[in-house]
Amino acid sequence: MPATATTIETRYREKFPGSATQYERARQLFPNGVTHDSRFMKPFPLYVERAAGSRKIDVDGNELIDFWMGHGSLILGHSHPAVVEAVQRQVALSTHPGSSHRQELVWGEWVKKLIPSAERMRFVSSGTEATLMGLRVARIATGRQKVLKFAGHFHGWHDTLIPAADPPYNQGEYPVPGVTAGVLGDLIVVPPNDLPALEQALDEHHPACVILEGTGGHWGMVPMRGEFLHAVRKLTAEKGVLLIFDEVITGFRISPGGSQAHYGIVPDMTSLAKILAGGLPGGCLTGRADLLCALEFENRFGKKMKHPGTYNGNPLSAAAGAAALEVVATGEPCRVANEMAARLRKGLNELFVEKGVNWIAYGEFSGATILPEYDGPPSTGDDYIPCDNQLAKLDRKTTPALTHAFRCAMLLNGVDFFGGWRAMLSGAHTAADIDQTVAACGSAIDLLREDGLVA
Ligand code: PMP
Repeated sequence: MPATATTIETRYREKFPGSATQYERARQLFPNGVTHDSRFMKPFPLYVERAAGSRKIDVDGNELIDFWMGHGSLILGHSHPAVVEAVQRQVALSTHPGSSHRQELVWGEWVKKLIPSAERMRFVSSGTEATLMGLRVARIATGRQKVLKFAGHFHGWHDTLIPAADPPYNQGEYPVPGVTAGVLGDLIVVPPNDLPALEQALDEHHPACVILEGTGGHWGMVPMRGEFLHAVRKLTAEKGVLLIFDEVITGFRISPGGSQAHYGIVPDMTSLAKILAGGLPGGCLTGRADLLCALEFENRFGKKMKHPGTYNGNPLSAAAGAAALEVVATGEPCRVANEMAARLRKGLNELFVEKGVNWIAYGEFSGATILPEYDGPPSTGDDYIPCDNQLAKLDRKTTPALTHAFRCAMLLNGVDFFGGWRAMLSGAHTAADIDQTVAACGSAIDLLREDGLVA
């Protein structure tokens, strides 16, 4: 342990010794010892053994209230009985028949029933693949090359859309190590919530499509509200540019039909993943039949989009997804998740005032984001967007030392927040979970004060 170890770090090492041991093994295997960038944390991440509902249990037997919820895929909570039963049944029948199967039909029918834009679909294995496919279909359908995204919107890690996902945006240049200048040249990036900038870019570049996250970048970190979304739909339709809603997170979450059903907007295509597959790997591109026909052997474009994929429509994902969507269709998981998130945001904001810290919690639907080092007024209600919704103020890197310390301090108090500052709620979270979480945050702030990390 370093000689300068803080109270938080000392207690963290004492409480989670089993995870420290596992992390030593991991460092011999994985870059930074992790299998996903956002799971990295100092001094080491936790190793989780099992989970149920809103809780997960680590290798030392510590119970944590979870706000990662499978990176957003678990709207029903961990190991929902309907999903467990469906997967257990299917694993014994076949994990990969290498042929068509009935589970993919049941799964697809649920997607069509719930998502307004879903006329046809093709299953893939992740959200990244789904957005990649959306761009390629848009290019085939329009014969145009460029695509347009909003700064700070995340659509997976493939070459075309990973630029401009995170700050700094570098005034028009978006260097991403390993992405070629040629690929970058096909991408147009526009600031979010700026209709004149969007219109100008559409006129200047005539892209094949506009792709966006249905509640704003990083699931609402920089909110994009209905009025703007309606304006984008109108503008893209007028200009003959295809509109793709990336509902990898928002789909089946903010409402059973995603943000498009909530706002009453029908995009041309939609990318889905996460909740779609009930917590197993899976994704799909869905949308207008006269666009998805690009995948057909004979189609109106005179060229077929090649699309293999070993795990497309995987029966385990299909079984889990169909079981999950059947429960989502009741509307109850989304309703509870939204209600609990509002309770969390309110509770946190009251706590921040009480503790005298310059932090604010905001968000909508089933998400909550804490913005530390905030220089504006306190929240004035649940619809409040801090910092006048400015990209540079909301989508910024928090001091890493504070982020790691806050995350450790929350874990010490039995709560795992997404990446430190964010929470993704589920239908399994209860009012007692939320109240316990707010209390945990109060204790975490006290610990940060002891270590001199907050004033
Ligand atoms: N789109 C959005 C909006 C996402 O949030 C994510 C993942 N968080 C992706 C696409 C990529 O999905 P995946 O991680 O399944 O590739």
